[in-house]
Amino acid sequence: MAPLGAGLIFFLLLAVALVLRFKFAEAGLTVFVGRSLLVRPVKLFIARFVLTLLLPFYLIIALTLWGMALAWGNAFIRGFSNTWTALEGFLLTFAALGWVHLCLWWEVPSTLWLIPGLRRIPFWLLLPVLLVAVLAYPIHWAWAHRLGRFKTIGLVFGLLLFWFLVPSAPKHIPRLLSPARGGGDQAKILIIGMDGLREDVGQAATTRWVGTSYTNAYTVIPATRLLWHILWGGDPLFYTVGHAAPALEEYSGAPMLPLVDAADRMGWKPRFYIDDGGTIGLVGRKLNFDDVLMPAPGWENFVNSNLSGSFPIFAAWENWARAFPTTNPWAPLDAGLREALRLGRGSKWVMFHSCLAHVPIFPRREELARIPRWWTLTPESLEPYYAREQVTPNRAAHYDTRRDPFRIYTIRMQAIMKAWEPIWNGLARDPQYSNATRILFSDHGERFYHVTDEVRLGGVHGYNLDPWETRIMLKVAGPGFAAQTGTPAKLDTVSVLSIRDGIAHALSSGKSISPEDLEKSYPVAPMRYQCLDLSFFTKEPAEYRVMEVSSLAQSTSIGPDGIWFTRYEKSAEERAEDVTIAWGRGPQLDVIRPLKAGGAHRYLYDGFDLTSVKTIDEDAYKAEKAKVKAALTAHSPEKTFGK
Ligand SMILES: [Zn+2]
Repeated sequence: MAPLGAGLIFFLLLAVALVLRFKFAEAGLTVFVGRSLLVRPVKLFIARFVLTLLLPFYLIIALTLWGMALAWGNAFIRGFSNTWTALEGFLLTFAALGWVHLCLWWEVPSTLWLIPGLRRIPFWLLLPVLLVAVLAYPIHWAWAHRLGRFKTIGLVFGLLLFWFLVPSAPKHIPRLLSPARGGGDQAKILIIGMDGLREDVGQAATTRWVGTSYTNAYTVIPATRLLWHILWGGDPLFYTVGHAAPALEEYSGAPMLPLVDAADRMGWKPRFYIDDGGTIGLVGRKLNFDDVLMPAPGWENFVNSNLSGSFPIFAAWENWARAFPTTNPWAPLDAGLREALRLGRGSKWVMFHSCLAHVPIFPRREELARIPRWWTLTPESLEPYYAREQVTPNRAAHYDTRRDPFRIYTIRMQAIMKAWEPIWNGLARDPQYSNATRILFSDHGERFYHVTDEVRLGGVHGYNLDPWETRIMLKVAGPGFAAQTGTPAKLDTVSVLSIRDGIAHALSSGKSISPEDLEKSYPVAPMRYQCLDLSFFTKEPAEYRVMEVSSLAQSTSIGPDGIWFTRYEKSAEERAEDVTIAWGRGPQLDVIRPLKAGGAHRYLYDGFDLTSVKTIDEDAYKAEKAKVKAALTAHSPEKTFGK
């Protein structure tokens, strides 16, 4: 009972820290998650999650750690397994839990910002204090047995080493829990999506990757789920006016993804893997994938990934034991990609999407090492501000630019690209993937709104059409594309629709996606989106026709088993009345934002620089809107493959 009690109390302390964090959250995702915790299906999910998974896990870990202490202690102290007291059992297990957590906090020190109180202590002081607190009892206990200096040291060090196996084992045990679907085909198409990878950051981080770089590539809509649905052949007119949760009508009726359906009919075995399935909304829908895996169903990933950061030892094992590796702060950066490539063997069309750079990013120690004197920072200061209201004049005046969220985002993206580099470059020598068109792309970029010249907010996407959100990363290797590093970037305009059409062409012709498919089909890249209001981040120069975040949240329902949906009052066609539209042409981006008072503002960008803002009248806006609509449907895959 004593070791179990230690496990229970340690777990309760972490749980209290988590509750306090939600209680005192100022803004951002934590507030959103905190509010949604009050919804009945989420409450039931959390109760089930805690009682059937999280708490039993902590109790088992406590017993395991105690078993190690008992075995190792017995080797030094005669008869220890018969003479130990309840107090020894409790305190040693508690110290062991402290030690394994400290090992994980040392790996990702920024996760200490999740713990009220501790988050305000600078790392240089906090980490040694935690170490002393954790070691105090085991040293005192070993000393009290009067074993002599060397045996005491051996006893304590041995214990720490044994206990260390518990957090480090999941990284070394091969993942075999999700059986591969297999098959005998070589891959024809491999698509790797990196969520929110900006074009500028992505290209700079992949200079040592083989393949052809495209530096003027654009999304169709800066929202993950919708963009992927368009890539799968879904109707762009439907999928450019939605948001994060699926629309209610997507759960009923026939599958709406013509390219996935065609690939399935033709035996291509389309497979899709994602390390954070929260926004992709595939759960509960009838679709023709050969395989879809994510760590947990639908929205449960959000709660999962947000809870896990507060329970480090659970998080470390979660990456190993879930159906697919997760994005929690301890997830190895290459685990998801490796797993997708393993599970994809035998399929002709393999897809993987990673959310490892989703906000908030918890930098690891190696990532922090790139921040000058990171140990003088507090954990708290690594948490980005999410809304401009948080940036009070006092906070702005004392802002330490080392914590800049864009810097941390860049460091994270570089770390991911570095972890993936040997895998990507190795694919050319892997018979399964060497003849595939291998595409690294992002679904959208990421924007860091400035509150002052110095202070930037945490990264966001899915709000607006602008170069930060719409310009995307694109690198392609495989037949017809550069097989070495350092070839000059191609400047042609590429739309994600070009990739979609390339897939359609490959499916219908049996040939590989060619450079011409990507470079010639959309000299101008169309985009449209029912933008959200930006009042959290910035003060707009005028009132635009946008959707309020609060009304979107109110019309979204959360159901059991990860299912969620938005019930829109108007049809997609009606909602498209007020869309923001954009054209990408080489480095130039032309964004037309409709005004509440009628007419629109036309923003022109060159790269990331705003060059002009002009006002156009309502008729001109309507004419441009019709042109975008025509461009979006110009090469509908339904024409080739039917509905
Ligand atoms: Zn995304």
